[in-house]
Amino acid sequence: MGREQVVVAKFGGSSLADAQQFRKVKEILKSNPARRYVVPSAPGKRSSDDEKVTDLLYQCYGRASEGKGYLSIFKKIKARYQQIIDELGIPVSLEKEFEVIEQAFLSHAGEEYAASRGEYLNGILLAAYLGYEFVDSAEVVRFSKDGEFEPERTNFFLSDRLLKTKSAVIPGFYGADDAGNIHTFTRGGSDVTGAIVARAVKADLYENWTDVSGFLLTDPSIVENPKKIDVMTYAELRELSYRGATVLHEEAVYPVRREGISIHIRNTNQPEERGTLICRKINPEDEVPITGIAGKKNFAAISIAKNCMNAQIGFCKKLLEAFEENDIAFEHMPSGIDTISVILPHEEYLMKENEIMGSLQRLLQPDKIEVDEDMALVTVVGKGMRSVSGIAARFFSSLGEANVNIKMIDMGSNEINCTIGVSNKDFERAIQALYGALVE
Ligand code: ASP
Repeated sequence: MGREQVVVAKFGGSSLADAQQFRKVKEILKSNPARRYVVPSAPGKRSSDDEKVTDLLYQCYGRASEGKGYLSIFKKIKARYQQIIDELGIPVSLEKEFEVIEQAFLSHAGEEYAASRGEYLNGILLAAYLGYEFVDSAEVVRFSKDGEFEPERTNFFLSDRLLKTKSAVIPGFYGADDAGNIHTFTRGGSDVTGAIVARAVKADLYENWTDVSGFLLTDPSIVENPKKIDVMTYAELRELSYRGATVLHEEAVYPVRREGISIHIRNTNQPEERGTLICRKINPEDEVPITGIAGKKNFAAISIAKNCMNAQIGFCKKLLEAFEENDIAFEHMPSGIDTISVILPHEEYLMKENEIMGSLQRLLQPDKIEVDEDMALVTVVGKGMRSVSGIAARFFSSLGEANVNIKMIDMGSNEINCTIGVSNKDFERAIQALYGALVE
């Protein structure tokens, strides 16, 4: 007999925002017994003008640690959980937990401790409601004392602990160092916990349940009703999230990618929808030329010109040194024969302008340096792009027709992405034109 299927299901904040959402989560879990490991976020917004418990915790701790009045926010947080307990009749009291938390806030337990309590308390409730074991992430998700996540030690502790359980709730977003101090991932980090748990139990699938039916091909605030992405590779996801598509935390890919575990984004409110599957390889019949279009505004391009640059050995090395010595990671480096440009976030450029210019002059003695401080980057991602001819022609003519001036082109040699630089004011228009020409 083969091994039983194991699925890790992570539920985001809006999927667990109130009692009604808890009921939906239970239904989803009941409908597939393979969903044995559950990773919850803290209760999120119940409506667009509501507050996330994590935000309330940050605010509350901020006030308590500065000696300001914090009780009204503290009560709001308590009430969020109590309402879930009462409406679902969960046989749990969080009174003692809240006493401990209040004391810890007053004795400056730290912002990360404070923020983590949202997931911790939600995990206790969810485990009791489902009849699953509660596994406190502080015991199994390891951080160094400086707050660096420790993947290998975590995998060791977590797999050992979880393989002994039939079904468990492991709260997202936090872990602890060896002294017991709590550390969190960056915001949205429960996605990362879900991925770590999936790796630890060698899951067949990592389901990420949220309030949208997957990734959209582009930003719906720019293009009306964009298509949904049914399937994409980890690499495509990486390109898209890097360029601003936000459904999944960027760091959630690594732990599952290394094990070849697919991620399935699904909608708690519409579980019948197909969602977006992110996997290592796409079947040829599912392949589409363009997977997604994403972008970000506000970059600066520093262009350096020097005669016979192409023949100078070590020129690029010195150029990179100039950025390295100022502690700057850059985005792109398109080059010509006698010029080369480096593109970096505008804000970073403004902060370090003098230092960068100083280093470039000293190390390269360029003929000319020009800076374009008005650049937005738009990336078209699609593994299928390489096998369809005529895409580039449509790509560029659509921009021409939309009157978008292209300032920079950078095509990855893996041909899964093509990035262009345009003026910030042309950003939306460029995305609309590309969507119209390449997708519709
Ligand atoms: N609750 C945390 C946040 O709001 C983590 C998460 O939801 O993933 O960022």
